[in-house]
Amino acid sequence: MESLRSKKYKQEFVSTFPGDDSGNLTPRQTPGKLYSKAIPTPVEKVSLLAWSDELAEELGIQKPADQQELDILGGNLVTDTMYPYAACYAGHQFGSWAGQLGDGRAITLGEWETTAGKTYELQLKGAGPTAYSRRADGRAVLRSSVREYLMSEAMHYLGVPTTRALSLVATGEPVLRDMFYNGNAAYEPGAIVMRVAPSFLRFGNFEMLNARKETENLTNLVNWTIDRYYPHLQGEDRVLDWFKEIVERTARLMVEWQRVGFVHGVMNTDNMSVLGLTIDYGPYSFVDDYDPDFTPNTTDLPGRRYAFGKQPGIAYWNLGCLAAALLPLVAKDKLLPALESYKELYWQKYYQMMGNKLGLDKTTNEDTTLVTQFEETLATIKPDMTIFFQLLIDLPLCMENAEAVAEHFKDSLYNDLTPEQSEQLYSLITSYLQRLNRNTITRAASQALMRKTNPRFVLRNYLLHQAIEELERGDNTLFRKLQQAIKEPYSTKYDEFFQTRPEWASQKAGCSMLSCSS
Ligand code: AMP
Ligand code: MG
Repeated sequence: MESLRSKKYKQEFVSTFPGDDSGNLTPRQTPGKLYSKAIPTPVEKVSLLAWSDELAEELGIQKPADQQELDILGGNLVTDTMYPYAACYAGHQFGSWAGQLGDGRAITLGEWETTAGKTYELQLKGAGPTAYSRRADGRAVLRSSVREYLMSEAMHYLGVPTTRALSLVATGEPVLRDMFYNGNAAYEPGAIVMRVAPSFLRFGNFEMLNARKETENLTNLVNWTIDRYYPHLQGEDRVLDWFKEIVERTARLMVEWQRVGFVHGVMNTDNMSVLGLTIDYGPYSFVDDYDPDFTPNTTDLPGRRYAFGKQPGIAYWNLGCLAAALLPLVAKDKLLPALESYKELYWQKYYQMMGNKLGLDKTTNEDTTLVTQFEETLATIKPDMTIFFQLLIDLPLCMENAEAVAEHFKDSLYNDLTPEQSEQLYSLITSYLQRLNRNTITRAASQALMRKTNPRFVLRNYLLHQAIEELERGDNTLFRKLQQAIKEPYSTKYDEFFQTRPEWASQKAGCSMLSCSS
């Protein structure tokens, strides 16, 4: 184990690419640069709210033992071998080209190399302005920091590819936010998360270089990314192969989101990782009542572009933007089929995953009809997604009639079923039981498969909301409990949370809908 203070950090990104080393934090365009030096702006008092022991263990990082070490987590101390910088990237936001964006409040301190030779970027989110802060303050509030910290760890334990969070600290400073964008700005406690990932490179880093026609920088960044993160790609067509692998990883990520019912909320191309990780936790939500049109992001309400059911299609659209950015390096007639392969890859993985959710021995073409029947029925009945699939695991193999089926699933329902819905559900379950009958694996094996595919505990927004309110009052009871619960999402250990979203939370801001204000 090594300490954050005495570690010799690597600086490969900044020593490889042209950047603005002035340290100037005035918002500006930085053509020709891939990053700008950004020294964190010190805060009043750094105090530790959470530390991820398991992640620290994995990376070989010692838990801070004194205030000076804690200061690193809040940006108050930058050590000699760190080179703090904000990355410059661009992106498409809500379908439109947004030009240069960049890390407006994320600052990478350095690259941490483990004894096994793996490197990870250590990045502070909320550590003050950078050259890319535009009109904003570079800070983050406790509310959004708790959400990023807990959810990135929760996703990890769910088995979904994600960036991680090592620490959460309070800054002792208030931050002004207009949470509902309605002119009622108020002060909220400030906080900083230390995020960790092999790389935070996004589609937008590549889009920016293409938009600026900086082909040499683009070529170098692509080659560097492949050498470092995709070293197995060494053939003649390695850029094309790399794109294909991103397509594959992105398809896998989308299937994982659909599996656990995660809605990202802001799938702009600057929030798409080239490593296929879930990145940038903002106004996300798990699906409570199953609804493909559900979006948790108030800004997304007009078009519901980033709704639950649309995520896989949006990922394809975003991949199209990445492909366009690679046109100077790979011929269009090669990129296009690679992009198109997304659809088949996605559906194949999706049906396989759904077969696992349903406990099927294998997923045949015929089974896709059953999967569609599930989707349609759930979209009509809108039961709680998590609870419904849990109840499906223990479905009696003989269901007499529609009443018995409705009774079995009643704990997952938000509304009484109409007679038509009841019939639809009965018909679905009848088809499903017939299919289970043809399973070539034992019932126990089928249930075991379902238990490891369907989470039983998901970090619902209303739980986060309650934990945050408590924390703001100085009580960390629920926060601590959630920190534990996220580690065992497939067990019954935290069944105190095994219930539908309470009625009071269904319309309350922060529990069902969120804004981007963070
Ligand atoms: P997001 O929607 O969180 O992905 O953010 C989009 C862009 O806005 C990114 O360039 C962020 O760095 C920037 N941004 C968001 N919040 C802030 C903030 N408080 N200060 C500076 N930049 C921000
Ligand atoms: Mg972002």
